[in-house]
Amino acid sequence: CSVIIPRQEHEISRKLVSPNALRTLYRLKDNGFIGYLVGGCVRDLLLGREPKDFDVVTNATPNQVKRIFRNCRLVGRRFRLAHIHFQDEIIEVATFRSPASDEPDPAPKKPDETEQRHPRMLKDDDGMILRDNVYGTPEEDALRRDFTVNSLAYNIADFSIIDFTGGLADLSAGIIRTIGDPAVRFQEDPVRMLRAVRFAAQLGFTIEEQTRKALVAATDTIVRSAPPRLYEEVLKLFLSGEGAKCYDHLSRTGLFAALFPDFSNWLGVEGECFPHTRFGEMLAHVDSRIQQGHKVSPPLLLALLFGEYIDDKAERFRRQNMPWQQSVNAAVAEFMGETCPIVMIANRVGIALRDIISQQMRLKKIPGRRPESLIARNDFSDIIEYCRITRGNRKDIVKQLDWWETRAGQLPQTPTADEPAEE
Ligand code: ATP
Ligand code: MG
Repeated sequence: CSVIIPRQEHEISRKLVSPNALRTLYRLKDNGFIGYLVGGCVRDLLLGREPKDFDVVTNATPNQVKRIFRNCRLVGRRFRLAHIHFQDEIIEVATFRSPASDEPDPAPKKPDETEQRHPRMLKDDDGMILRDNVYGTPEEDALRRDFTVNSLAYNIADFSIIDFTGGLADLSAGIIRTIGDPAVRFQEDPVRMLRAVRFAAQLGFTIEEQTRKALVAATDTIVRSAPPRLYEEVLKLFLSGEGAKCYDHLSRTGLFAALFPDFSNWLGVEGECFPHTRFGEMLAHVDSRIQQGHKVSPPLLLALLFGEYIDDKAERFRRQNMPWQQSVNAAVAEFMGETCPIVMIANRVGIALRDIISQQMRLKKIPGRRPESLIARNDFSDIIEYCRITRGNRKDIVKQLDWWETRAGQLPQTPTADEPAEE
């Protein structure tokens, strides 16, 4: 059953919707199809927040969408989606799906595969969705979404809001609640647990009691999700601008220990005699940078969060008489080795993380050998920021960093490729 809220009774105005999304919706409607805005954008518009992106759903199949848009490309293998390309924006158009499903597959389609040939939804022995590709009704499409507040639709035909799940009530009460049985929904896709935490932190919502209980009971199953996907989710959590709050939820539910068992042990055990206060300080620092509108690169984020842990490992190697640079390399390798089986940090990000930590040495030498080559590095500002944040309480270091930044400011800005780290 659904509740329809007519235009006069809600706050969403078309002025707040991306013109390209509106064009897409009107074009679908003019061709006789249903067009809804759905998901995060409807939730954010109702909360008076600026949506990150505008997702459209329709009853037109991907091939039908392709026929009515010249600027359309079909993507996705497990589930085909239409991307409508505009000059500075891509609007994603999905066909109503049923009955429950995971994330769209970003992999490109194989040329010989057609939408009819996919088997229906397939789950593994643990109930996790492996693949699904079933078109459904608007209601089914709403019910397969993760949380009630993420299931609202805005109908371009009459500008009404359609609520199949009680999402509007949860939105005004500030509640994150799974649609259906939370234990089943987390089993189908454990990443939903991380999404629950992120939305709770980002929106300042509480996780509804049954949802929270099921989440706490299922934390260990998070490791069944694909490691690259967990990495993407971890980035979203800590770059959300509410990373400290996210960490709070993650550690209290047990998700953090499941994601980062070794680091989490280190944080806890060592904490008894020397509390590791730096981790919390780094979360707060990243949050304030993001809230001020700055970008934090993934390697810098990882360096800030895990740098002290990696330094600790490097120190251990140095006690075994390993030279400095080698000790950092070995420490980063060990960190990657224990983290990547669960949270897959891409190799190039691991290398960039290692560079940020190891280039600190070069900052000490003023003017040093070829200072321009350090300044010309793409990650120069990350190297400086990392040093300022982690060691900026020392006057001599601040002086060094000021020297480097002044020097950098005096140089003409020439884009150059990364230099390999100096041994
Ligand atoms: P954000 O502001 O982070 O983009 P969002 O709600 O838009 O939040 P997306 O990841 O962009 O999140 O997904 C869009 C919509 O797709 C969600 O609002 C939700 O309805 C649905 N969705 C996304 N991931 C899942 C999932 N794992 N399980 C079920 N539904 C999902
Ligand atoms: Mg979104």
